[in-house]
Amino acid sequence: MQRISHWVNNKVVAGTSGNTGKVYNPATGEVQAEVDLASVAEVDAVVAVAKEAFTTWRATNLSRRAEIMFRMRELVDANRKELANIVSLEHGKVPSDAMGEIARGLENIEFACGIPAMLKGGYSEQASGGVDVYSIRQPLGVVAGITPFNFPAMVPMWMFANAIMCGNTFVLKPSEKDPSAAMFVADLLRQAGLPDGVFNVLHGDKVSVDRLLEHKDVQSISFVGSTPIAKYVYETGTKNGKRVQALGGAKNHMLVLPDADLDMAADAAVSAAYGSAGERCMAVSVVLAVDTVADALIEKLKSRIPNIKVGPGTDPSAEMGPLISREHRDKVASFVTNANAEGAKVVVDGTDKAKDTGFFLNPSLIDNVKPGMKCYDEEIFGPVLTVMRVKSYQEGLDTINANQFGNGTAIFTRDGGVARQFQFDVQVGMVGINVPIPVPVSYYSFGGWKASLFGDQHMYGPEGINFFTRGKVVTSRWPDPRTSSVNLGFPQNR
Ligand code: NAD
Repeated sequence: MQRISHWVNNKVVAGTSGNTGKVYNPATGEVQAEVDLASVAEVDAVVAVAKEAFTTWRATNLSRRAEIMFRMRELVDANRKELANIVSLEHGKVPSDAMGEIARGLENIEFACGIPAMLKGGYSEQASGGVDVYSIRQPLGVVAGITPFNFPAMVPMWMFANAIMCGNTFVLKPSEKDPSAAMFVADLLRQAGLPDGVFNVLHGDKVSVDRLLEHKDVQSISFVGSTPIAKYVYETGTKNGKRVQALGGAKNHMLVLPDADLDMAADAAVSAAYGSAGERCMAVSVVLAVDTVADALIEKLKSRIPNIKVGPGTDPSAEMGPLISREHRDKVASFVTNANAEGAKVVVDGTDKAKDTGFFLNPSLIDNVKPGMKCYDEEIFGPVLTVMRVKSYQEGLDTINANQFGNGTAIFTRDGGVARQFQFDVQVGMVGINVPIPVPVSYYSFGGWKASLFGDQHMYGPEGINFFTRGKVVTSRWPDPRTSSVNLGFPQNR
């Protein structure tokens, strides 16, 4: 059985806790590897390594850091296919989808290459007589990233590229369900010339997360995962004096107005709902069909679903792979199975596939969904698209704003004025106008509102730089003996 161990000081380090987790091949349902799960002592040892590396790394000049990140960019680019296959084998998403994940992660590495230009501070000459004032941004120290199963390559890249370029050292605790992508990326960083101890991977479960949250030498926590854990991580980390950004779950609505191009809207909804088997925090989960469009839209969605090819990542024609685990597959199926009893209408039932040994489901479509039903109130995170019929734009907007989540949303319309009003009014962090999955490019920042994000700073881009640095302001005067005197008054500038 393959064993996946930790990555410390640029090499693989076998775990000593005696605890391991199972890593499945979701397409076959078989266990394909075991992953070491760290103990408290192992967390402490890795943090100590990262702390020691910080002294030298923060003093390493910006050009040298950028040179390493440029090399990393080349290495990820050259190894896209191999990394995509690793992701596909443990996560289940088809390789073409995994390639998309890597392309979006790579954008963050490219952004990070240019960070020296963004670390420039301000300078005010002659703020007072002979006095100059300037601001600088400095790294925090050892920072930690805790990541979910659904983007095992991209989400770590959201975090470590900016963190390292800003001069921090990094401890990554990836999802124990698909831990191999992090190890491959770690080795690419080594090949790029990153010094020992600057990037470390620690596999683990709640034990290691809790230790990172309380460790006095960990300065910040970047978390992406489900809302209950995000809230817990935020509350525990901040209570222990850490800076925390904790991104949670989602329920993304797509509002389709009567003037929208319905074929375009149906293509977009099907792609955004069933891509990656719906295991994306930016997946479209609810279509809000306004007024007269519902029947026609349902027909168009229904007609597209049989064409989706479900299969393992090893089948080049497959467009949608399995879900991450048997438990998750069964939970997703239960939303569909219970929907009719709740008063909704199951139009396409994809749960027949749940009999396979692999963790597959076919796509499902549920009509007449309303708040108060489980399939509406909870995050499904699977290949299930729900449709809610609303009478007006206003009812659609109010529905979105009443939802507990605020990660992503989209409006489909030809009316620019309404789209602009939507962007103005909607209480969601990332908005698409005729774009179903509006994941911001790397030079903006990623983050939702409400129960989709706990903390003040969004992930990556300019807010990522703010998160991984802290400001210092220097007030300086060069000694001039002619102006020296004793003065016990409070310093004034006029
Ligand atoms: P998860 O919350 O189960 O796990 C995320 C991380 O937390 C993992 O590293 C896991 O080991 C750790 N963890 C799990 N349980 C824990 C506990 N009790 N105490 C401490 N740590 C714990 O999430 P997941 O199932 O891996 O990922 C799917 C979820 O992530 C979905 O809810 C999805 O919406 C969300 N997500 C959000 C975003 C976003 O940007 N907002 C992006 C991707 C995924």
